[in-house]
Amino acid sequence: RFITLEGGEGVGKSTQIATLRDLIAAHGFEVVTTREPGGTHRAERIRELLLETSEESMPASCELLLLFAARATHLENLIRPALARGAWVVCDRYTDATYAYQGGGRGVDPGQIAALESFIQGDVRPHLTILLDAPVELGAARARARNEAQGGSDRFEREQQAFFERVRRCYLQRAQDEPDRFLVVDASLAREAVTRQIEAGLIARLLA
Ligand code: C5P
Repeated sequence: RFITLEGGEGVGKSTQIATLRDLIAAHGFEVVTTREPGGTHRAERIRELLLETSEESMPASCELLLLFAARATHLENLIRPALARGAWVVCDRYTDATYAYQGGGRGVDPGQIAALESFIQGDVRPHLTILLDAPVELGAARARARNEAQGGSDRFEREQQAFFERVRRCYLQRAQDEPDRFLVVDASLAREAVTRQIEAGLIARLLA
């Protein structure tokens, strides 16, 4: 089984990944947790290229191709082999993020993304996608606090609120278009409440 976790900035994906891993493992399955962009040595190197700040501008097409280049090696070296031996794979972000950020956020034609999706992924698509949804201001406040604590930088520091509003709208639209695949969770609730919703959804959809 292939499960992905999606959402905007500061919605708490990394905390909830651990919940998913523990719940699946408790049911006796091997579980591999990973992330995008990244997940393998080469893909993490590409992630650094994507996230580094530079004087040189990053055309949306370059960003898009780097994301799919990272995905290609991540699929080949980690995701496909894990699924083939029967493990469950839980991935922090996947192609829905590409539609939301590069499509919704940066205005890349979704048709171009779909072409790369079928070229790179073939039939490796998530069985379940958990969308952690929260108002942009809420996630932004959390992301800001995290960045100050870690001294890290992310997209949050480079984009305007309108960008993240488009990202959120795109995610919600995709969830509406594919209700059987998506589980939308209100990430503005307390962490324990979010965890409970994820557990209930996972059990009902894949573990029942
Ligand atoms: O999910 P995570 O916080 O690890 O993502 C790192 C950064 O990469 C975030 O700032 C996110 O907005 C950005 N990103 C992006 N386009 C994607 C995936 C992630 O801009 N397709």
